[in-house]
Amino acid sequence: MHGVTLAEIQAARRRIAGQVTRTPLIRSATLSARFEAEVLLKLETLQPTGAFKLRGVVNMISALLERYGQQALAAGVTTASTGNHGRAVAYAAARLGVPAIICLSHQVPDNKVAAIEALGAEVRRIGDSQDEAFGEVARLVDEQGMTLIPPFDDSLIAAGQGTIGLELLDDAPDLDQVLVGLSGGGLLGGIGVALKASRPELEITGVSLSRGAAMHDSLLAGHPVEVEEVASLGDSLGGGIGLDNGCTFALVREVMDSHWRVSEAAIARAMVELLEDDKQFVEGAAAVGLAALNEHELDIRGRKVALILSGNGVSLETLDQARRLAGR
Ligand SMILES: *Cc1c(COP(=O)(O)O)cnc(C)c1O
Repeated sequence: MHGVTLAEIQAARRRIAGQVTRTPLIRSATLSARFEAEVLLKLETLQPTGAFKLRGVVNMISALLERYGQQALAAGVTTASTGNHGRAVAYAAARLGVPAIICLSHQVPDNKVAAIEALGAEVRRIGDSQDEAFGEVARLVDEQGMTLIPPFDDSLIAAGQGTIGLELLDDAPDLDQVLVGLSGGGLLGGIGVALKASRPELEITGVSLSRGAAMHDSLLAGHPVEVEEVASLGDSLGGGIGLDNGCTFALVREVMDSHWRVSEAAIARAMVELLEDDKQFVEGAAAVGLAALNEHELDIRGRKVALILSGNGVSLETLDQARRLAGR
């Protein structure tokens, strides 16, 4: 049981209102023409922290404060994250008056680390993988009584991300398909529950990296498996789903209809196209929907399709790397 329900997502929408941006869904003229479809872009890049992760985090901290009071979170909150989640926890904790320590692996790009520190949270750098950073988080929880805010594997987190699904339905009630970057599965799972509740026929498509697609490998295996963490333009999609996954594995298994993997070259091309043609500045993880349409020549003719531009945590250096890889 994953515990993510439409009622929880509706409660999340009420909780996060005013703290999180209600983002626009815009039509891409160039992509709509190219694919002979209605291609819509959900601009999560406009969140104050540059990524959708704020939705889940604000929902979880607010729900805990609502249920147990400010005193219960007096020791603070902590997490390990590939960047956008850490930034969201730092931002939300500061706004809600709760102390925060963010544990990051040495794989996380420096621009993301600096952004978190600028938000006033303490950053602790540990090891070379997200799992090692999680070890430090566990220690802070056990020894200092801090509260873990997980990046995806929690029903309050996934319900917060699911508010994107409610907004999609408000703006495009006749949507046919959504393409969502898939890593831990909070984003895809939450959106999936929200959309399937009123449109079960709507196709939920997950897109992962070609190497290290932990959720998809786990679904094929029938249980959570570990994958190797590799450097990627889509670094926000790296990392495992946790061998003791208690929520999002079941959630994604229930709501995902189709899945694609995308190469580094395809991610690079999609990042450059979104910037050049649509003037949307996105990180690699946010470009994977377009990368999948391009690389796998998906036939979406005549359909209304939403791409979730999930975040903009990318340095100019990385963007330049993408540009060279794309040959533009
Ligand atoms: C975290 C993240 C994702 C994937 O979300 P999950 O809930 O882990 O599947 C996609 N895009 C960006 C920009 C992210 O930060």
